[in-house]
Amino acid sequence: MKDYYAVLGVQRDASDAQIKKAYRALARELHPDVAGPDGEERFKEVAAAYDVLGHGEKRAQYDRGVDPRAASGSSGGPQGFGFEDIFETFFGGGQQRRGPASRVQRGGDTLVREDVTPEEAVFGVARTVQVDLADACPTCHGTCCAPGTQPQTCRQCNGSGSLQRVVRSLLGQVMTSTPCPACGGYGTTIAQPCSECSGHGRTHSRHSVAVDIPPGVETGTRIRIPGIGDAGIAGGPKGDLYVEIRQRDHDTFERHGDDLYCTLEVPMTAAALGTVLVIQTFDGPRDVDVRPGTHSGTTLKLKGLGVGRLQRAGRGDLLVHLDVQTPSDLTDEQETLLRQLAASRGEEMPEANLSPIGGGVFARIRDAFMGRG
Ligand SMILES: [Zn+2]
Ligand SMILES: [Zn+2]
Repeated sequence: MKDYYAVLGVQRDASDAQIKKAYRALARELHPDVAGPDGEERFKEVAAAYDVLGHGEKRAQYDRGVDPRAASGSSGGPQGFGFEDIFETFFGGGQQRRGPASRVQRGGDTLVREDVTPEEAVFGVARTVQVDLADACPTCHGTCCAPGTQPQTCRQCNGSGSLQRVVRSLLGQVMTSTPCPACGGYGTTIAQPCSECSGHGRTHSRHSVAVDIPPGVETGTRIRIPGIGDAGIAGGPKGDLYVEIRQRDHDTFERHGDDLYCTLEVPMTAAALGTVLVIQTFDGPRDVDVRPGTHSGTTLKLKGLGVGRLQRAGRGDLLVHLDVQTPSDLTDEQETLLRQLAASRGEEMPEANLSPIGGGVFARIRDAFMGRG
């Protein structure tokens, strides 16, 4: 259990007045204006200690060996001496402003989506995208004021942007400041807004933006073009433009990372005898060397014909999957030739019963296959 007496630096038999006095002294010492942000943790401790010792009931409970803060799980008692309020006053107002706020703001980022073909993803492409963007108003140049006029010092806050308010607290009177409602905290008001932009300082128009789409982009890739987003507010810097890529599918080539895949149908005879087939790749026609005795499912690699690697040198590969076609439309003459081939290779179905499920079924399948059914 935390020693709250030690935190406040008082004896266990200290009077209420002594505890209050010790707390006030520490709170002043640890005030962020004095101690800076480093004092925050210490102040929390001190405030917690006072939350207990500063309340007769909680202090009695604590003296009996029960930490009421731990027990209740809350930091403030029902009667609330304003611990949270003071805390807010001290630290909650981390954004307490000094001086008026600036109207100047960076413009927002903009996202456009752009479709590319698989070929464009392989090699990259130069594109022009159309995008609606906010521009600095051509009439007021972002100042929001009608031509010839200027922002005027706010009468309510005299240009400070905030209103001071005195709050009574344990520490005596504490000054808090709130943004001035009349000027929104800017310290100035715009008496005559620009009519072109209705005082917003920006207009919108369609822009054509040249985008260099590099090789290797895929669906979801975002290309950032700095400084081509919305114009900033009141002359602030522009945001960025993001172009999000969506890659369309291809009829022949499937993409996996940097590699391309395709399936090439090879006649049974060509697979057996070997041949050279020509396929149309993104780099033009290329030979596919089918070796004699090629099995269905064989994959051939054409190195460097895949997708360009994004932001790296080199390209992936093109993988050609060979699908050997078994003929199903034989003429009588072709069938005879195939039977002769089978016979010369000794590939006629053996008569012996090789099937574990019985020769009868096997024989029937065989007969159907061999045309004796
Ligand atoms: Zn304007
Ligand atoms: Zn004001």
